[in-house]
Amino acid sequence: MKFGGTSVGSVERIQAVARRIHDRVKSGDRVIAVCSAMSGETNRLIELADQVADRAIDREMDVLLSTGEQVSIALVAMALSDLGVPARSYTGPQAGISTTSAHTKARIRNIDPQPLQTAIDAGQVAVVAGFQGANSADGEVTTLGRGGSDLTAVAIAAAIKADACEIYTDVDGVYTCDPNVVPKARKIDRISFEEMLELASSGAKVLQSRSVELAMKANVPLVVRSSFSDAPGTWVTEEVSEMEDIVVSGVAYNNKEAKVSLMDVPDQPGIASSVFSTLAAENINVDMIIQNVSTDGITDLTFTVSETDLDRAVATLESLKPDINWGRLETDQSIAKISVVGVGMRSHAGVAAKMFQTLADNGINIQMISTSEIKISVIVERKYTELAARELHSVFGLDSPGS
Ligand code: ADP
Ligand code: ASP
Ligand code: MG
Repeated sequence: MKFGGTSVGSVERIQAVARRIHDRVKSGDRVIAVCSAMSGETNRLIELADQVADRAIDREMDVLLSTGEQVSIALVAMALSDLGVPARSYTGPQAGISTTSAHTKARIRNIDPQPLQTAIDAGQVAVVAGFQGANSADGEVTTLGRGGSDLTAVAIAAAIKADACEIYTDVDGVYTCDPNVVPKARKIDRISFEEMLELASSGAKVLQSRSVELAMKANVPLVVRSSFSDAPGTWVTEEVSEMEDIVVSGVAYNNKEAKVSLMDVPDQPGIASSVFSTLAAENINVDMIIQNVSTDGITDLTFTVSETDLDRAVATLESLKPDINWGRLETDQSIAKISVVGVGMRSHAGVAAKMFQTLADNGINIQMISTSEIKISVIVERKYTELAARELHSVFGLDSPGS
């Protein structure tokens, strides 16, 4: 059972989480709880770091950010003990979670199931800090990227072969679009791993995308539910044939990316490789990429990165200028990516045309396009994020009936 930031956001909510776990234990289930930091805490810590120094040091950010989750696990464990449920808190490293060394975006390498298994065998509820681990090289504390407590929960569920991984959050489940932005969004009862992965990696932060990737690989039964009600939630499962009947199952947006354009790049073999391998070596993830047809042996290369990586991406590209001899570097932070996702796209034609027409009808210009078998994404001006999401939601028949 994983509890997100809002679910442990106050004393009362922590006590409610403890009662929920208590009831499950009394019903005969054996439970491992994973907790996020109290809502707003991770952002507060990032803010503090911003104020203290001009440049963040990734190792120290991890030492700092990992404290947020430690507060919640201790409080939840004490609230459980108060209800008579034997409980013990575990930091990520204590829970046997080893990761890579990429501070602030580490990947889980391995989980030693022993510490948590010992707690289960002793009839204790282990309350584990989400979002953190220790690198396997030298035991330094690491964090797993924003939203990483979901990944902790799924990885533990896979490691101990749990019957289910339940993600408790502040909405009733996975919706056809963020219900806080599109009020007409509908709750989905069942969604395929693949669709959930595309939605999550397109910005639907209800589940962290790597957690979905792992759940799919390890076949972990995953359910997203409200921590404020007993509503049944959304099951994320393998695809079943009826899912193909629905052309578009969800709309997602990401307005935290920036666009980088390298203009007047020599059109020669090895240039793209050099640009993207250097960015990768700096741990900068690149999302969409476009390269134009060249004229006179010169071309333009445009791509998107997370806004938080923009400064580092620019510095990396500047360092390549002597080798690559690009002409101009332009960046744009006023962009948003809007995506429509559905396994039904495999068998239905015309989805892209309908998407582009809808944007055109609303006077929204498309700057970049990318597609996968079950997703179409476009980059548009950021001010149109909500308008585009709502219009596409409506045009693809996702608005809730009666709204
Ligand atoms: P937690 O702190 O529990 O991990 P998050 O804030 O990370 O919660 O994720 C839950 C939020 O995700 C919701 O409050 C909602 O605004 C947002 N969200 C974005 N897309 C969706 C979607 N398709 N379905 C449900 N929630 C979504
Ligand atoms: N506390 C971390 C964050 O805010 C991890 C999480 O909540 O999943 O990103
Ligand atoms: Mg989250």
